[in-house]
Amino acid sequence: MLNIAIDGPSSAGKSTIAKLLAKKLNICYLDTGAMYRAMGWKAVTNGIDPTDEKKVEKMLLTTTLEVRYIDGVQSVILDGKDVSVVIREHRISKAASDISKIGKVREFLVKKQQEIASSMAIVLDGRDITTKVLPNSKNKFYLSASSEIRAKRRYDELIANGQDVKFEDILKDIIDRDYNDSHRANSPLTRTADSIYIDSSNMKVDEVLDFIIEHLVEE
Ligand code: C5P
Repeated sequence: MLNIAIDGPSSAGKSTIAKLLAKKLNICYLDTGAMYRAMGWKAVTNGIDPTDEKKVEKMLLTTTLEVRYIDGVQSVILDGKDVSVVIREHRISKAASDISKIGKVREFLVKKQQEIASSMAIVLDGRDITTKVLPNSKNKFYLSASSEIRAKRRYDELIANGQDVKFEDILKDIIDRDYNDSHRANSPLTRTADSIYIDSSNMKVDEVLDFIIEHLVEE
């Protein structure tokens, strides 16, 4: 079964590429970041500090998370409610990054991601897909770009969505999240030796897409 693993830092273009790739190959796409965002969103909306391990672990006991595909588009259903849109708010990014450090949260979500991937051909993107979720995949990619370019892309996306943000704040947020994601004790973002590295700083979306397709192998 074709399971494509794409890791990389925030705003490297992973979800754009993964979505288009899935469409081209006529398979599903799983945005694992959305699952961490849903957990971060639940903590924030319930007044729970996402860094408070004990409270978050307690919260997990009463949490159900489901990923549904409607016309090939992913929806994240948290405790029976579709949270796909609200989890995109800028304030949720930090909460997702904080809550993703908690081992029990990762265990809960990785298990779900592996179940989904074992049931269908799929593209997954995140921070630990090549290392923890699909360590045996033959199709591993690490997608990155300079922090300035990533901040610019994220800034443009948020402005287009009508959010009131400053470029400097977005750049700082990207740098902080990079640090957070690559220095945490649980499943830090790392590039495995068997991942194909792509620096998309000066590449167009189509070029990245073609590059990945050229390098796919049968599984
Ligand atoms: O990909 P996105 O930026 O939406 O993810 C939000 C946060 O969730 C990331 O900053 C990262 O800390 C966390 N995450 C993770 N492992 C994944 C996907 C996302 O730790 N597989």
